[in-house]
Amino acid sequence: MINLPKIWLSSPHMCGEEIKYVQEAFDTNWIAPLGPNVDGFEKSIQKYINNSVHVAALSSGTGAIHLALEILGVGIGDDVICQSFTFSASANPIKYLGANPIFVDSERDTWNISPILLEKAIESRIASGKRPKAIIAVHLYGMPYNTNEIERISKKYNIPVIEDSAEALGSTCNGIKCSSFGDIGILSFNGNKIITTSGGGALVTKNNSFKEKAVFLATQARDDAPHYQHSNVGYNYRMSNVLAGIGRGQMGVIDDRVAARRANYDLYYTNLNDIKGITFLDEPKGYFSNRWLSCILTPSFEIREKIRLFLLEKNIESRPLWKPMHMQPVFTDCISFDDGTSEDLFERGLCLPSGSNLTSEDVMRIIGLIKSIL
Ligand SMILES: *Cc1c(COP(=O)(O)O)cnc(C)c1O
Repeated sequence: MINLPKIWLSSPHMCGEEIKYVQEAFDTNWIAPLGPNVDGFEKSIQKYINNSVHVAALSSGTGAIHLALEILGVGIGDDVICQSFTFSASANPIKYLGANPIFVDSERDTWNISPILLEKAIESRIASGKRPKAIIAVHLYGMPYNTNEIERISKKYNIPVIEDSAEALGSTCNGIKCSSFGDIGILSFNGNKIITTSGGGALVTKNNSFKEKAVFLATQARDDAPHYQHSNVGYNYRMSNVLAGIGRGQMGVIDDRVAARRANYDLYYTNLNDIKGITFLDEPKGYFSNRWLSCILTPSFEIREKIRLFLLEKNIESRPLWKPMHMQPVFTDCISFDDGTSEDLFERGLCLPSGSNLTSEDVMRIIGLIKSIL
């Protein structure tokens, strides 16, 4: 039997320019959590998203969510609403601050936070005497959430939005780039994301004082004094200048990476959509997804597992959709407003290999294998 190389779900894809910036950091001895690559990377993200945003490069997307919550004043005993259908890193920082996650289920149209359930959750918490401090909404798999409705609800109840855009760099809604909708947006540059710095993240905001606060908290909260003086508890969350060099190289090819991921999705869609029982998540009008991961829904859990295990046998990685937070053992005690949507998506859904470094031959082979067992 021929042993074909492993196909990963989403692996890093360097362009070659990264090493020049990394070399520059070595040559100039900027091996620190500050320096020209950090400034340059922040500027390139700002230019790409929207010139009116401010960007702080950080050590992870999770750290960015932690800082965003703290900047919005979340503390012990507060309630924070969080999309249930997401990766655990969206919700964990709520717990770091001693606050309570309130989980809200998804809508069918985007697989993201349901505006109807969100409003129900807010009304219900206010009725019990507790106004939620923030809303964490997620653009899962690159598909934007319903930005118009979430913005309307945020304004109506005066509750700020943290926009988890970890999976959505390059996605837009009504022509506006994801990470610039919320009061604070966050990005991730983890190894499996659409572009990577091996590990890293960013906080994005139109409010410059939020950016300044983020940088202050991310660098141990040093007061302005010649000695080390602290009036706040700080963190060590800034991005390294070496890794920011990788990011500068990656930002040069972000549009190519989005195009490649979308081409993967189109190939899967064209060849699998006519198979009975296999469905895809279409872009609603005005929505543009970076198609970070190409996802399918199968008719049942059994068929989902049959496909996944068959691909695994062929050395091809695929993955069930995210297990909702309200179903996670670590969050069983949390309040949840769910209607079965994300539970169903989790049971029947599968993420297919989606890297921008896949060839169309790779994708066609995966399609052939899936067809062969259905
Ligand atoms: C990856 C991811 C994060 C966390 O980002 P890290 O950089 O890995 O800490 C947060 N939210 C979502 C939805 C993610 O996919």
